[in-house]
Amino acid sequence: MCTTSTMDTDGCVRQILAIAAAGGELVRLTTQGVREAENMKVIRERVRAAGCTVPLVADVHFNPAVADVAALYCEKVRINPGNYVDAARKFKQLEYTDEEYAAELQKIEDRLVPFLNICREHGTAVRIGVNHGSLSDRIMSRYGDTPAGIVESCMEFLRVCMREHFMNVVVSIKASNTVVMVESVRLLCKAMDAEGMTFPLHLGVTEAGEGEDGRLRSAVGIGALLIDGIGDTIRVSLSEPPENEIPVAYSLLQAARLRTTKTEFISCPGCGRTLYDLPATIQRVKAAFEQAGKADKQLAERLAGLKIAIMGCIVNGPGEMADADYGYVGAARGKVSLYRGKECVEKNIDEESAPQRLLALIEAPLPAPPVGGRAALSSENTASGYAALPPTGGAGRGAIPVYKTADTMNYPLLKDFARENRYHPTEAESILWDYLKGYSLNYPFRRQHIIGNFIADFACLPKKLVIEIDGGYHQLPNQQVSDADRTQWLEQQGFKVIRFTNEEVIGDVDSVISNIKEYLK
Ligand code: SF4
Repeated sequence: MCTTSTMDTDGCVRQILAIAAAGGELVRLTTQGVREAENMKVIRERVRAAGCTVPLVADVHFNPAVADVAALYCEKVRINPGNYVDAARKFKQLEYTDEEYAAELQKIEDRLVPFLNICREHGTAVRIGVNHGSLSDRIMSRYGDTPAGIVESCMEFLRVCMREHFMNVVVSIKASNTVVMVESVRLLCKAMDAEGMTFPLHLGVTEAGEGEDGRLRSAVGIGALLIDGIGDTIRVSLSEPPENEIPVAYSLLQAARLRTTKTEFISCPGCGRTLYDLPATIQRVKAAFEQAGKADKQLAERLAGLKIAIMGCIVNGPGEMADADYGYVGAARGKVSLYRGKECVEKNIDEESAPQRLLALIEAPLPAPPVGGRAALSSENTASGYAALPPTGGAGRGAIPVYKTADTMNYPLLKDFARENRYHPTEAESILWDYLKGYSLNYPFRRQHIIGNFIADFACLPKKLVIEIDGGYHQLPNQQVSDADRTQWLEQQGFKVIRFTNEEVIGDVDSVISNIKEYLK
């Protein structure tokens, strides 16, 4: 969010461009009055003239007329149910009769509907954004300062949106107290589910502070919900220059395993067995990766998808590297062994040259896939004795699916193929992924997901649905037999396998999506 006055056009444009350059995907500006809302038009024109397409969001409090104007010029308008129509809290009227309460709700609807109509006409999205600190007297009178009150404050507005069939809405509940924030959002999910609502959620911890405290509070509040599978956009609020928020947001998404934007380094804490200066070694390996990434953009993209384990000793290191792609493990004083997955591929090399040897190992071509075409594995390559699939999680928001569906023995090999496929999707896969990712169909999808000894193009584990996109080589007789075997095995494990051709996805993705939705019901 910009910290500049919205009447300071130059300052706002500068800050919006800085936020966008840092990777921000939405920028919010405060619009206290109609003057500021009108100036959003000028700001937006200047930002677009600078070649920046980041959507702009107007933040409106206390004056619905401002929201009406902002809706003409911004991609989204945030309104606060606590003060959209209700006057500022006076803490005077603590009792409302049912009639008085109903009359206030009617007042909200009368004012909200014309605003929604303006938004509908201009394609403007609405964020219903409740803050723990700004509940109205009316809500406080019935629910007090509780998560139930925060949720009801949202639901009153959402019910109007539902009645008006206005679905271009995102909802947020923010609080500086992370427990209240997490509890309220979880409660909101249940309330929305109970009333058949599927509005996306924006997450944030408000007044999180600065420095380490601000980052930790945001990570706890936002992270807890992301791990639950809740959340569609996030903001890390820091009392710092706004562009500082963006790298924290990306790190948070990566830690929640939702978006991979950089190499993930894990390392042991070190102990008496550690065979080198651990902090210095970590910095040396990171610096080598950074330098290599700067020199070669393609390599940078490749490195961004990797998990590298830096472990202090050979005794416990390899076993504790968990699912790292590559390991850098202390082997003896001044010596390092390098691992690809769990396999030791270079032993006892000099510590000085080890970071570069690790990079060379990563750059070396992977072993050829065991079947023709892309790195899809057919039943011909599968070993006997498949690992039993563990149960998958329950359906829908809030469920925590179990992702470990791979054959344990072959996972290190399959993982490299899966990653290669993710880096080099076909045109059809790219198109379909845009429709499946981020809970777009209300369920989580994974692409190039390993199940047993197979790599599924797309998988929705809560619904046990596998989607395969067939290119030309699937028409070959041998491949058709392989595909049939693979489908049969997946079906034996309880998966439903549906197939589309490249042409179907590229030519009529809407029909493909409707078809998928049928299987998600
Ligand atoms: S991996 Fe080795 S050095 Fe690191 S903490 Fe474990 S035992 Fe100690």
